[in-house]
Order: sequence, then structure tokens, then C-alpha cells
Amino acid sequence: MKSFRLCLLLICSFSTVNIYAQVKINVASLKAQAFNDLNAEKDHYKKIALQIWDYSELGYKEVKSSSLLQEELKAQGFNVEPGVAGIPTAFVATYGQGSPVIGILAEYDALPGLSQQAVPEKKPADGRNSGHGCGHHLFGTASVAAGIELKKLMIKNGIKGTIKIFGCPAEEGGSGKVYMVRDGLFKDVDIALHWHPASENRADSDGALANKSAKFRFYGVSAHASASPEKGRSALDAVEAMNYMTNMMREHIPSSARMHYVITNGGKAPNIVPDYAEVYYYVRHPDKEEVVRLFDRIEKAAEGAATGTGTTMKYEIIGGTHDLLLNKTLTAEVNNNLQKIGGVDYTDEEKAFGEKIRESFGYPSPKVEEARLIKSVTAEQNSSPGSTDVGDVSYNVPTAGFNTATWVPGTSAHSWQAVASGGTDIGIKGMMVAAKTLTATAIDLLTNPALIAKAKKEFLEAKGNYQYKALLGDRAPALNYRD
Ligand SMILES: [Zn+2]
Repeated sequence: MKSFRLCLLLICSFSTVNIYAQVKINVASLKAQAFNDLNAEKDHYKKIALQIWDYSELGYKEVKSSSLLQEELKAQGFNVEPGVAGIPTAFVATYGQGSPVIGILAEYDALPGLSQQAVPEKKPADGRNSGHGCGHHLFGTASVAAGIELKKLMIKNGIKGTIKIFGCPAEEGGSGKVYMVRDGLFKDVDIALHWHPASENRADSDGALANKSAKFRFYGVSAHASASPEKGRSALDAVEAMNYMTNMMREHIPSSARMHYVITNGGKAPNIVPDYAEVYYYVRHPDKEEVVRLFDRIEKAAEGAATGTGTTMKYEIIGGTHDLLLNKTLTAEVNNNLQKIGGVDYTDEEKAFGEKIRESFGYPSPKVEEARLIKSVTAEQNSSPGSTDVGDVSYNVPTAGFNTATWVPGTSAHSWQAVASGGTDIGIKGMMVAAKTLTATAIDLLTNPALIAKAKKEFLEAKGNYQYKALLGDRAPALNYRD
């Protein structure tokens, strides 16, 4: 490395050629340097990730997880702005100055009801009701690790530019990034990178479903359910009528749409006519405009249900996210790096763990060895059945992402099996593949302005005339949506 730096210095002193040109020649050695550094730091980042796994904090309540990542970045010389976009657990950590500005997204919220120990059978962790079933403890840690490594490389090698780590809370239903986008935090970002824990390694070639969610609240009149039911008006009846209408609607909506609900309050006792009931809805479709149309029909069903049951209704938009605008230029770059870095190899002990997890699925699943493979980017764009608030970032900044195998192949996100793998070295190994891929891709971007220009051109063409508008409107962050 020393001779490389000396060589760089000599070139710089004799030439006025843009720094990009000189660094570009040595991209491979920059990446090798990064991978060595990250390998050496594995235990350090493992500690951070497992600490966040242990905290398992829900959306907008990630106080300890967020501050752990912020402290790490501060200690490494990042300028950290906490509490951005009116969200106490959101932050932006910046290193460097000037362009290009590379944004890396970090998540850290857990899921309710998925308490699980790091063992290959279903076994809730004592005293905990939540779990990292989506692996966001790995997501946040890998992104922070990449940011810190990039900072080191920039200093050592005189690379110009800015790295911004976006601490993004409440991805699971809270639409955290949407408020950050709405507040203009991504305005000066040239490229945004993200990744997601998964049961395979692959650059993003699938989109995501746009999603709009709301809590519909019905207000009725309570009465003795047996002695004077005629005096009551049941808010639960209204919820049931609304759900019935929505379920009938299913025949008359595009087949790629998804509508789901849970009754979050259905009354307190059978002998009291419920004067209050609440139902929480998600509406999804690959096209954000179709989501808005479907949501409007559901709203009509809610109004009709209130009219028919003699109750009143109010609803609160809880979240709203765009579909994912893919960028082939960036995806190709991510794919190149991922292919070179390679997947995850299990030790014999991890293989045994993986086999037990596979036995628990009750459905056919790939062999554990598949964690080693890097899947190819599919030519056809298929919309993945999930949703993400990265969608809103992707309509504002050229964005690329990828998955790594942090879970035993075949594992579904939001399962106890995902929580279990995420608490072991299986998860940590996948996390390090992600940290390396983020770092390598950012090196490509920092050293190749033509790549950024190409990605931006594609982004503008793909976006066309679409004017970004948050699906959740102008509501304030739903900080208590997990209460
Ligand atoms: Zn997730």
C-alpha cells in the first residue's frame, strides 16, 4: 500500500490532471485495502450489530440503537446531526466536503412479536416482545461500517467527496425515510446506496410495491348488549361492514394489488356494545397511482360502513411509500462488486444450524451451500411483493441496492428463523459481504464521475414527468404508530 500511495503522490505533484483519473487506475487496490480493513474490523462490527439485535427496538423507539450508531460515527470523525425531520431517532452523519455526495442508508428498527433467541428452534428471548426479523441491526451496522471505511480510504488516498450516512428509523410501517425525503435531506445527494438482509445474495433487480396505510376509527354508542341493544350503535359492526366491503372489492381490483388489515381495537367485552373500534389497513400495488385509487375506494367503503351502522368514522394516514425506481447503471456496478466479493461460507457448526432451520420451514428450501452463490440480476423487472420507504428516496436520487445472505437460504423475512440467524455469525458474515459491497460500489462512484453522470441520466429518463409527492401527504411523523 505504501508504494501505491507514494506513486500517487508523485503523479499528483507532477501533474494537474484531475485526481479522479489517477485514483481510477488504482480502484482495484483501493478495494483490496477496504476489504482487508473490514475483515480486521469484523469482531468490532459484530459487537455493534448484536447489541442492536439485543435491543430490538421498535419503529421510532430506536433510541439506544440509533445513538450507538451515532456514537460510532462521531468517534470516527463524522459530523452527526441527530433528530432530523422531526424524528428523534433519525440522523445524518457527514464526512468530507464537496461533490460527489454519496448517501448510504442505514436502518435499525425491529418488529413486534418476534422475540427469538439465536437458536435453531422457536424459542422466544426472555423479557423481550420484539425481534430483528428483518435484519435491520445488520443493515444499520454494515452501512455505518462502509461509511467509516470510506472515510479512512478518502483520507489515506486523497479522494475528494462527501459521504452521508442516513440513519433511517421505522422502516417497518413507519415510513421514516419519507419524512427525511420530504424535509429535503436528500437534495444534495448524487447517489444513494442501500442493501437489505435476505436469504440470498443478489443485486436489486426487483422493484417494490407502493404502499399506503391508515387506521380507520369508528365511533358508536355503548349500551348493554343484552338489556338495551337498541340504544347502542356498534363501532365493531362498522369495522366488520368495512372489511366485508373490502373483501368483496377483491374481485374487482387489479390482481397485482394487495389489501390487508388487522383489527387493532374491537371492543372490550361481549356484553358492552363497542363505542369504539379501529382497523389498520395496508393497500399495495406496483404503481403508486393505482394505490391512491384503491385507497380512495377503501375510504368510500369506510364511509359507507359508518353510514350503514349509525356510527361516525375518521381515519389517520399512517404510512405511504413509493415503488422502487431501479437504476440499471448502478445495479450493474453493484452486481460486479457483489460477484467479485462472493457470498457466505458456513462452518460445519453453521451448516448444522442451517439444516435445523431448514427442517423447521415445512416447505422445500435451497441447500445451505447456496449462501455462497451470487444470484444473477434478472433481466425482467418483477415487482417484489414487499414495500420499502427506500422507494421515496429512489424517486429523488438515483438509488441502487442489493441483498446478501444473512439468513439460512429459504428463510422468509419477518420470521423467527430470520431473527435466529441474524443473531449468529451467519448474519454477521452476510453483513460483512454487504459492508464490502457498499464500500466497493462507493469507491467506484467516488472515482468515476462518468458513472454518476450515466446513472443520473438514466434516473431522469426513468422518472420522466413524474413530480414526487409523498403518499402520506403532509402529516407529521407517526412517532407513536407502534403504541
Ligand atoms: Zn426490512
